[in-house]
Amino acid sequence: MFLLSQSNMTRNEKSIKKLLQLLKPLLKLYPGKILGVTTLGFLSSFLEGLGISLFIPLLESLDQTTAQLSSESPFLESLNQLFIDIPPNYRLLIICLCIFGSIFLKNCLTFANTFLSSWLEAHMSHRLRSEVFKQLLSVSQSFLDASQAGKLLNTLENHTWSVSETIELIVGLIINACTVFALSILLLLISWKLTLLVAVGLVLISFIIRQMSGLASKLGQQEVKVYDAIAIRMLEGFYGMRVIRAFGRESYEQERFDRASNQVRIITLKLAQLNGSIGPLSEILFVALFICILFFLQQNKFNISVLLSFLFILYRLQPHIQGLDSARVELVALTAAVEDVMSFLNRSDKPYIRSGRISFKGLKQAIVFKSVSFGYNPVEKPVLQDLSIHIPRGKTTALVGPSGAGKSTLIKLICRFYDVTEGEIYIDDYPLRQLDLASWRDRIAIVSQDAQIFSTTVYENIAYGRLDSTEDEITAAAIQANAHEFISKLPQGYNTMVGDQGLRLSGGQRQRIALSRAIVRNPEIFILDEATNALDSVSEGLIQEAISALSQNRTVIIVAHRLSTIEQANQIIVLQDGQVIEQGNLQHLLKLNGLFAKLYHLQYLSTRT
Ligand code: ATP
Repeated sequence: MFLLSQSNMTRNEKSIKKLLQLLKPLLKLYPGKILGVTTLGFLSSFLEGLGISLFIPLLESLDQTTAQLSSESPFLESLNQLFIDIPPNYRLLIICLCIFGSIFLKNCLTFANTFLSSWLEAHMSHRLRSEVFKQLLSVSQSFLDASQAGKLLNTLENHTWSVSETIELIVGLIINACTVFALSILLLLISWKLTLLVAVGLVLISFIIRQMSGLASKLGQQEVKVYDAIAIRMLEGFYGMRVIRAFGRESYEQERFDRASNQVRIITLKLAQLNGSIGPLSEILFVALFICILFFLQQNKFNISVLLSFLFILYRLQPHIQGLDSARVELVALTAAVEDVMSFLNRSDKPYIRSGRISFKGLKQAIVFKSVSFGYNPVEKPVLQDLSIHIPRGKTTALVGPSGAGKSTLIKLICRFYDVTEGEIYIDDYPLRQLDLASWRDRIAIVSQDAQIFSTTVYENIAYGRLDSTEDEITAAAIQANAHEFISKLPQGYNTMVGDQGLRLSGGQRQRIALSRAIVRNPEIFILDEATNALDSVSEGLIQEAISALSQNRTVIIVAHRLSTIEQANQIIVLQDGQVIEQGNLQHLLKLNGLFAKLYHLQYLSTRT
């Protein structure tokens, strides 16, 4: 039992040490402020203790018969000496003023400390949230692909707040520790014998509380897992709703969700019970300690003024020790969440797309793929294999091929969402990796099959393409994308809120807004990845005209399943299983009578019947 407790103790200490180690980069950001909180915490507690100690000369000046016990401690002796020369008529008033002065100063310092610690907590939490979001924006897409969306969301939403809670606890812990230190010094100065007795009692109480924090640590780790599990269930339930309903899997999903939710219930209840029991338990133990002290005092015949001051300081000390204990239990329970966020922030074990140094000034000749191979997963067969293509400037290049051939992957490589595994992509004479990423992407506009609409107005959704675009440019882009008419009919026109917190748009309407966003960017390289697949044939025809107009003197890359949309392309590249199997213009490919001709005739027949 003892050995078990010992191992529990070291595990808890290790947990907190690890926690502090994990948060070190964050704590190191504000060393001056942390020192300030520590100093103010110590000084305000010392002043409080001093104010209480001044009750000893106060009581002794009220009762002139009790002088002998003050001499038991040199500190009390010198405290009494301070007022001995003051005439008895004024002594009481002066001591009262000193008590008032120290308590007044103590409260001023406490106020300053509350302000400083809140500042520290708020700033550290803000820095942390900002770093987490920065990491999300900068980490390579391959890391995000490999992460479970629900778990990642839990890290970003819940665990980030847990770290803020941890910071708050640590700041509180520093203040509590300073108070305990300052008041303990005063207790020692008043009576070392009594303090020794109290210390033994406190060690015993602390030992019992530590056993509970061991349990909290285990529960904290389980809590992280069960919250991850429920976040995954919620997210999949939300995004997979149509499949769930279509396949009649409501009760199956409900059961899975209830199981995950029940686990959360069990763990959070256990943790709440454990955290809630610490306060009452330590209070009971403290009362027991007080009773022991009283017996000791009775045996040793202590002076009543010393006794009252000692007990009062001890009484003030108790909530701080209790605070230290419960903070320790809570901190241990939060370790797993902090570890999760810090591991997300760790840059050394994650892939990043590093920007090159050459600023991209504009395409002069072509985008060239030289023997490019690429795989999302290094242990699996590459998705693109030994691909060599030439995408000339100012022309329209179409990518066609069966589903899964690698068309969208090729587009992602051009945007440099991923780096090629083998070979090189050249932009004129420079490898794409050597180009400054921002200046390269600045010249590209992409409209993909899943047109992303943000929760804001239609206007801002279009202006996202170029933040400084004018109202006229936005309207012109919407007209070109055949979106102006439907936008004008919306309740507040361009100022209508759309997306999650606004009006829901149809697939075709979303695509037209996404297209307007790309048009307003006025890009040099225009990429359309199945950008018109949700449109009816009339809208598609109109947009085709707009795209043709936009294609003048612009490099356009189109991915399309509907082959009618790419008939005007200058070159068509046919992909199959990650390789180029045919290449040329429409007439050339039809003459070849290969895969493209087969697909083309099949679609032509299906539109006629
Ligand atoms: P479609 O016409 O159906 O959109 P596509 O030709 O655009 O297909 P890609 O989306 O490029 O095909 O996918 C090519 C292959 O890469 C597929 O086998 C697909 O499963 C795989 N793939 C696509 N995205 C990822 C990813 N993020 N992680 C792992 N594999 C992926």
